[in-house]
Amino acid sequence: MAEIEKLRKSIDEISLEILNLLNKRADIVKQIGIEKEKLGIEICNPLREETLSSILCKNNKGPFSNEAIKRIFKTIYDESKDLQIVKKDKITSLKIDLGNEIFIGKDSPIIMIAGPCSIESEEQLDKTVSFIHEKGVKILRGGAYKPRTSPYSFQGLGEKGLKLLQKYAKKYNMLSVSEATTIENLKLVAQYCDIIQIGARNMYSYPLLEATGKLKKPVILKRHFSSTIKELLLSAEYISKEGNNNIILCERGIRTFETSTRNTLDVSSIPILKKESCYPVIADLSHSAGRKDILNSLLGAVIGAGVNGIMVETHINPNEALSDGNQQMNKEEFFEFINTFEKYSKIF
Ligand code: PEP
Ligand code: MN
Repeated sequence: MAEIEKLRKSIDEISLEILNLLNKRADIVKQIGIEKEKLGIEICNPLREETLSSILCKNNKGPFSNEAIKRIFKTIYDESKDLQIVKKDKITSLKIDLGNEIFIGKDSPIIMIAGPCSIESEEQLDKTVSFIHEKGVKILRGGAYKPRTSPYSFQGLGEKGLKLLQKYAKKYNMLSVSEATTIENLKLVAQYCDIIQIGARNMYSYPLLEATGKLKKPVILKRHFSSTIKELLLSAEYISKEGNNNIILCERGIRTFETSTRNTLDVSSIPILKKESCYPVIADLSHSAGRKDILNSLLGAVIGAGVNGIMVETHINPNEALSDGNQQMNKEEFFEFINTFEKYSKIF
């Protein structure tokens, strides 16, 4: 027994040495990251990993097999890459200027974004905006390019819809946000709207993300329903590496085996995204739940989790909506929702 204790003591000492060496290595990795950024060089260099692996295998005297050594170092390479890309300690919590003296993020109040799923007609938009404005909402959402599951469903009014959105945002002195689905319509969305939305389905459309990064406008980047938190953060990198840091991350529910909601609102992602990145985080409750009767409860959950903003869908007559009729709130439902929001905002 005494012998085992002695050997364990040596293992503990060696582990501490490894720990110090790993962190020494990590410090150098970070320095390389800073130099690469200055020179505009890609972070990922698979050739370099291969070269280092073959040097290690040549010098490996065992008892670990070369395969085991490769696996161990693969984890070290991956963690090292993360040290270079995730902007954890570069900037802590951004405050983004959205225009009209509205800010989101650090030290700013929780922002409410509301509006119809799709812009359907001038009358529908005017009546819907009128009641959300009455409750003090400052950011109007409305889809003009709709990424619908079926190609035969209503696809949105396109540029005509964007023009209406701009007209009614101006009329009620609100900011506007609409989704861009392609590089072509991105230009139009940027022309007519204050904020660009990249929808869940396009979180993996890297050329679209890069094109959005070349603009300076604030971007709401929605989490894909099958993406991990890390994949969402890497998609945000596609935007920020092009020079646009005005990114708002949006939790909008993920696909699970649960069928009582449209998606499962991943509340845990909110504090994690806030810890792991510098970007404000909002929650889209309508697309998460896919129903209206639990929105007030979800509000408490996401406010408690620390969101910087909330997005919901509203419609003057949800029963006649051309998309997402089940989840859009009418005037009465929305007024009750805002009353709950105000109540929670006072508690937290
Ligand atoms: C939307 O906000 O209009 C939308 C389609 O949401 P998501 O991309 O999250 O499905
Ligand atoms: Mn919708």
